[in-house]
Amino acid sequence: MSTFYDKIHDKEIAPIGLGTWNMGDELRKQDEEIQALRHGLDLGISIIDTAEMYGNGRSEKIVGQAIKGRRDSVYLVSKVLPSNANFDGTIRACERSLSFLQTDYLDLYLLHWQGQYSFQETIDAMEELKNQQKIKAWGVSNMDVAEMEEILGTSSGRFCETNQVLYNLRRRGIEYDLKPFHDQQKIVTMAYSPIEQGRILTNKTLQSIAEKHQVSAAQIALAWVLSHQNVVPIPKSASAKRVEENVHSLKIQLDHEDVEKLNLEFPAPTRKVSLEMI
Ligand code: NDP
Repeated sequence: MSTFYDKIHDKEIAPIGLGTWNMGDELRKQDEEIQALRHGLDLGISIIDTAEMYGNGRSEKIVGQAIKGRRDSVYLVSKVLPSNANFDGTIRACERSLSFLQTDYLDLYLLHWQGQYSFQETIDAMEELKNQQKIKAWGVSNMDVAEMEEILGTSSGRFCETNQVLYNLRRRGIEYDLKPFHDQQKIVTMAYSPIEQGRILTNKTLQSIAEKHQVSAAQIALAWVLSHQNVVPIPKSASAKRVEENVHSLKIQLDHEDVEKLNLEFPAPTRKVSLEMI
């Protein structure tokens, strides 16, 4: 069976996903959120990222409604909370997520961040979930190099398929060591908050490059993330129009001059930077 890395590199699935944090929190916005996710799927996007944490399962319920009748075209990712990530707790959390999502399997199940339980215990549960065909693959989130080394050192740790981390123009620390580590191990870097939750969009350099390409600042920020090999940004939008805008960033090619300007404005790390989180 092909791994997440193979699927991305063989272009079996598009290297951009749909984030869902905060979805489901407001009743009056739910229809729009479901439409936004469905529109993303209509445009050929497969990856949907959610978590049991988001709205205590409310985001998973929204995703469940959005993917109804089209499960086969979705690459579904959810996450277990560290406080649930002992052996039995992980199994139960996954079953709960499956019922909220109205499906019988996840494509990828992640440990949201490191908690009090050993990696080995969580990984044993992940492997059991694979045996039970409740998940197809597993990975982690918010892990720096030292934690990744520990994970890969556990039995079955080599099956870790992704590490979902904060990565955008303003948060480039992982380029120093974590990203090269992932690449070497064929672990996909999922980039969360790829437009820094909207906060970088007023940046003048970003805006001037956007103007030159006649696109939006968000699209340039996403095109920059996408210009890196083995990285999958998962922007969140509750608007079908902005989802479409984000998906179209796949078509934007930044030129040498754009990249130079962005490097000046948002410098690459020159030393180890501890992994940042949101
Ligand atoms: P993003 O960087 O994706 O930004 C989302 C914000 O930007 C929303 O307010 C959205 O508003 C707005 N936005 C989206 N597209 C556009 C656009 N084209 N133009 C202008 N504004 C836009 O931040 P997130 O923190 O949501 O990260 C993305 C996803 O990553 C999350 O939803 C979640 O799935 C995951 N995540 C994982 C974490 C982890 O610990 N593993 C931590 C944080 C996020 P609107 O919806 O109104 O369009």
